[in-house]
Parts: sequence; C-alpha cells; structure tokens
Amino acid sequence: MSNNTNIACPCGNSTQHTALLYHTCCRPFHSNSLKAASPEHLMRSRYTAFVMKLYDYLIATHHPEYLHGLTANSLAQSPETHWLSLEIISSSGTDLQGQVEFQAWYKDDTSINAIHERSDFQCIEGEWLYTQGEQFDAIFPKRNQACLCGSGKKFKQCCL
Ligand SMILES: [Zn+2]
Ligand SMILES: [Zn+2]
Repeated sequence: MSNNTNIACPCGNSTQHTALLYHTCCRPFHSNSLKAASPEHLMRSRYTAFVMKLYDYLIATHHPEYLHGLTANSLAQSPETHWLSLEIISSSGTDLQGQVEFQAWYKDDTSINAIHERSDFQCIEGEWLYTQGEQFDAIFPKRNQACLCGSGKKFKQCCL
C-alpha cells in the first residue's frame, strides 16, 4: 500500500458529498493522534486498516478479552482480500457501548461479496474497542441502484 495520504479515504466517508482524504479521515486514528469519538468512527478506521494492512492497529482496537488468540501475525497470514468499499447501514449506542451494522464489499476471482456484520463496541476508559460481531448474508444492491464500489454508476452497468 502506498504511503500517499492524499487519497480518498478507503472508508468512503464524505462531508457535503465530498470524499474525505485519508489524512483528514482515518489517518489521525491510525497514527494515534486522535481517538475515535464513536463506534462508527472506529469501525471506519478499522475497515481502512484492513485495506491498508495495518494489523497492529486492528489488534490495538480489538478488546483483548475478545481476541481469542488473534494476533497481528495471524491477520497478516490470512488470505489477501481485495476490498471494494464500506457501507454503513446503521449505528447506535450509548456512551459506553454501541453497535454498527455494515457491509464490507470485496472481490475475489469470480465474484463480489460482502461481510455483512453487526459489530459490538465497548468504550473502555474513553477508548472505543471492537468486541465481537454477528454475521449475516450480504444484501446486494438492486440492478438500478448505485454500485457498491462507489463508482457512481448503476450496479447493472458496473460490478454486477
Ligand atoms: Zn476514513
Ligand atoms: Zn462498481
């Protein structure tokens, strides 16, 4: 992954329909200069960390009691994933715990699919951490809806 921070942030966050750049979006979390203010921010920064293979960050933001032996090394050894986009479906919660439902779209040799998960987060001493998630089947866009890859084209004219 390039070190260029002047790219649109992989998490797809935008303000007033303008894509946020990595260095103003998820990078402050990755460089530890900012703590995620909400489960959704943490979720976005963790998706971007998957895209950029920042495995130490993924471990650091995963509640230690829920790691179950997961390490930065084991993450690095999992099969390569070609991530396409992150779709936040909903987020909710209180000051101490929250949930984010999302689809993380990816592509393999033959098809496109998504990890569709409702993730749980806990705030421990002011820091949001991922604990666990429940997974569901992917919900695909309809043919005439916007493509999941963020191209702005219709799904049927793009990745379908
Ligand atoms: Zn971002
Ligand atoms: Zn597409």
